[in-house]
Amino acid sequence: MKNKNICIICRKAKNNMTEEHVIPDSLGGHYKIYNVCKGCNDSLGGDVDSTLVNHNFSKFFRHNEQIKGEKGKIPFPISGYFQHPTRTDLKYKMCHGKLRQLPTPPQLIKNNDGEIIGASCSLDISDKNDANAIMKKYLSRQGLDPTQFYTQTEETIVHSDTTFSGKLNIDIRDFKIGLLKIAYEFAVDKVPKYFDDPMAIKISEILETANISEVEKLQISTGFEKIISKNFDDFFDFEKKRHLLWLTGVNNCLICFIRLYGLFEISIKLSDNSSYLKEWDMLICDNNFKNKKCVFYNLNNKLTNNIKNTYISFEHHVSSRQEYNELQNNFKYEGQGKEPKLYNSKGDVFPNAIHIAFNNKIKEAFNHKADTISVVNGFLTQIIKFDNLPPVFLKSVKTGNLFRVTAIKIEEEFEKI
Ligand SMILES: [Zn+2]
Repeated sequence: MKNKNICIICRKAKNNMTEEHVIPDSLGGHYKIYNVCKGCNDSLGGDVDSTLVNHNFSKFFRHNEQIKGEKGKIPFPISGYFQHPTRTDLKYKMCHGKLRQLPTPPQLIKNNDGEIIGASCSLDISDKNDANAIMKKYLSRQGLDPTQFYTQTEETIVHSDTTFSGKLNIDIRDFKIGLLKIAYEFAVDKVPKYFDDPMAIKISEILETANISEVEKLQISTGFEKIISKNFDDFFDFEKKRHLLWLTGVNNCLICFIRLYGLFEISIKLSDNSSYLKEWDMLICDNNFKNKKCVFYNLNNKLTNNIKNTYISFEHHVSSRQEYNELQNNFKYEGQGKEPKLYNSKGDVFPNAIHIAFNNKIKEAFNHKADTISVVNGFLTQIIKFDNLPPVFLKSVKTGNLFRVTAIKIEEEFEKI
């Protein structure tokens, strides 16, 4: 993107840029950008962010975390109308956590001769003082003279220990446009070249027109799968109160993963071109809504900085139960802790050149050039195979037996982010 005055949503030159929250602030977002024009900012807030902010899951989340909205209010997650299980004439409304009965339409009461002797209605105890006025109004409307009747109120408890039933709507589609906006703005902000990508142009159109049905045509997941929690549980401490955005290249595509607290988890394909990022680069936006901070980092660098301990061990070729037992039982080899002394199969010490090549292999592992890398339980484990060296042996201090080294194993213990 060349021009700072171009709005990233409508793609027009504008001079009224505003502060845009990439993650809505009423969801605890603290990531701000400044290249969205006033008009687009307003319509994004009304048509795009609202799908996410007003999602019932978000209401539960905001209530749990006590996050205030723009008007300073914390939503109560359960709202709407409820029904009494047996008295189907009674309707209730949930207001700020309190269930209130709605007045029933008044009914005329007649005696056996069909003569009107009064009217009745049922209302919430908190509306007791309105009973008179409601009945007067009703009787007048029926063409009757309210002064001919007297009002009598009766208090009946109809809803203690009762299970009320109501509906809770969970949107499974519309909210995705809110997540798409987050992914797009994150990508454009951190990878400015992405702005000119054909898919970026398409996405900005969808966002500008809040065209929800077009979102489904993109490669976007359901939004409820535990895609990040499952795959990155070893890297991140998911107990922390935060939202995570994740930009990376997968299968030659640019992908954004989003994890909004633990509620929504989604993957969105942003481009058919992965060259915006270096291979293995994973850009993270880590938005902590407890300490109200938003930080950005490259996952690989962050992990390298978080390494607490490094353990080097060797994998051996084992040819007998006896050898296996020796290896398992506090195996010590010559040169352990300093530089391992390397032997050939006949038991002769190798020349220096082999020792140097061996040590270079270990260095390679530290530069993350291992044959296999895995992350399990807070350990980054790398295995470097010994293919292009002559067979190398270590000598047991205890028995003098030789053990062939097949690979070096480096385990780096890191602190979860
Ligand atoms: Zn605009």
